[in-house]
Amino acid sequence: MRERIIRFMRGRYGNDNLNRFLIVVTIIAEALLFLTGSPLTMIGLVGLIIVYFRMFSRNIYKRAEENRIYLTYENRLKSSWRRRKAGWQQRKTHHIYKCPSCRQKIRIPRGKGRIEISCPRCRQTFIKKS
Ligand SMILES: [Zn+2]
Repeated sequence: MRERIIRFMRGRYGNDNLNRFLIVVTIIAEALLFLTGSPLTMIGLVGLIIVYFRMFSRNIYKRAEENRIYLTYENRLKSSWRRRKAGWQQRKTHHIYKCPSCRQKIRIPRGKGRIEISCPRCRQTFIKKS
């Protein structure tokens, strides 16, 4: 049986990050549809068909390309989330101001009273409370 599976999967794409993501999304969607008693539970089946289609596909180049595009989006989302989280952690100790002329974000430590800020990008100066 094991050899047969190995022989069957030879030259086929197999699993990747996009498939793992699709499986999680399918399970969550299916659980939500089931809990709400929705008649659309076949959506889960569609998700599974896509996952198996990609796994058994012989067009490895195309599947890898799909995965690469998926990873680009995943990384973009992850880094924007990290930036937002860092911003939240800094709120206690720093103020973030935008330069009035070039919109550059400038980080100022809190508790220094009214200070003159000089934009590091365009040299514009403005007064803010820190
Ligand atoms: Zn500026």
